[in-house]
Amino acid sequence: MIIKAARHVTPAHKALALLASLILALGTLLPTDQPSSPRILSTAGSSFADTVSQTQKADVRNPQNPTIWKVEPGDNLTYIFKKNDIPETELQNMMLADTQFLDLETLQPGMEIGLDFNDNGKFSRLILFRDPARRIIYTRQADGSYQHQSETENTYWVSEVHRGSIKGSFYQSAQQSGLNDAQIADISHLLSYQLNFRRDLRAGDRFNIVIAREMIGQQFTGKTKIEAISLKRRHQTHYAFQFKDHFYDRQGLSVTPAFLRWPTLKRYRISSPFNKNRLHPVTGRRAPHNGVDLATPVGTPIVSTGDGVIRRIGNHPFAGKYIDIDHGGTHTTRYLHLHRILVKRGTRVKRGQKIALSGNTGRSTGPHLHYEFHIKGLPVDPVRAKIPTAASVKQQDRPLFTQQVEQQMAVLEHASDVSELLALKTEQ
Ligand SMILES: [Zn+2]
Repeated sequence: MIIKAARHVTPAHKALALLASLILALGTLLPTDQPSSPRILSTAGSSFADTVSQTQKADVRNPQNPTIWKVEPGDNLTYIFKKNDIPETELQNMMLADTQFLDLETLQPGMEIGLDFNDNGKFSRLILFRDPARRIIYTRQADGSYQHQSETENTYWVSEVHRGSIKGSFYQSAQQSGLNDAQIADISHLLSYQLNFRRDLRAGDRFNIVIAREMIGQQFTGKTKIEAISLKRRHQTHYAFQFKDHFYDRQGLSVTPAFLRWPTLKRYRISSPFNKNRLHPVTGRRAPHNGVDLATPVGTPIVSTGDGVIRRIGNHPFAGKYIDIDHGGTHTTRYLHLHRILVKRGTRVKRGQKIALSGNTGRSTGPHLHYEFHIKGLPVDPVRAKIPTAASVKQQDRPLFTQQVEQQMAVLEHASDVSELLALKTEQ
């Protein structure tokens, strides 16, 4: 009901809504330890990169003043330790403590590392400054082992609007509005289920993108996230709103399908299609082939194509090791001939979560994955079936979602009149 009302608001109402959303954003969401005046941020964007490169890290630096090593291209930890006269055994012990985290794998040129030594000049601590708000600390224990610790400062998010119109490709136009490649790829993916970017866009079509930047004090941490998208074509406007780490349209329906088309991360050749009247390659009898066979080598990661619960796990003389997943009653998926199963019966899984490694178990002519998609208990062609897209905002989240969408709509629709700060909010 509220959504419907929002569609028919007058411009005056919209202006009021924008004002209200700004007051709300500035008044209730401003952290008490931040200055009470809004930070006015230019949407031009490029000035941020400069600010970050000149960043002083004094606020996150350890009070004992560690030696700071700025990582250059080609640097690795062995070299850095050698240059600082730290025994190699220390590095080995530190790597052992890092096994479950793999944070030491993330050394990148420009990154800073702090090296601490105790009063006897013995190495005692390594600090990895990941960004102005995050650091990883490895502290040497009395027995020579290391303790891994991760610290994050309180940050907040500042929103800005990138807007533009289509001249040439969407990519070119979006780039001109100040968006980077990763953001453009995300936007294209999010709207790719509603329109074909190559075919459907015309010169002059307009877009507004709300991007949030993560800040600590006056510094940008380097992290951004997309909050809202509108793309206005002649007769239709497409929307995507971020809500609880997922994107929805104005009505609260997921903009990406509830199911993945393929149960693999990469695409594999179809070695045998879905066929209701197939001559079985092993038995020679006519029998339906209720799924699609993908030519996956043994050990290929297999993912659940939707959110669901592991209903059955088994080892069948013909199907081999298999998994059945229940996706909320109407839909079931099935994965056969597996080499290894990585989940247990009753486990809740997410769309895209790794559940098994493909294999060649049971009666099988060679390594492959047999994948089935059932609707109301009947197998359908997983390649051609209409994939349900109905994942939507949970009923109990509706009021909050509606409120956020109204705020974002006001921001998106007034973006062309408002050149500066549009919203300011915080995150714990
Ligand atoms: Zn098969």
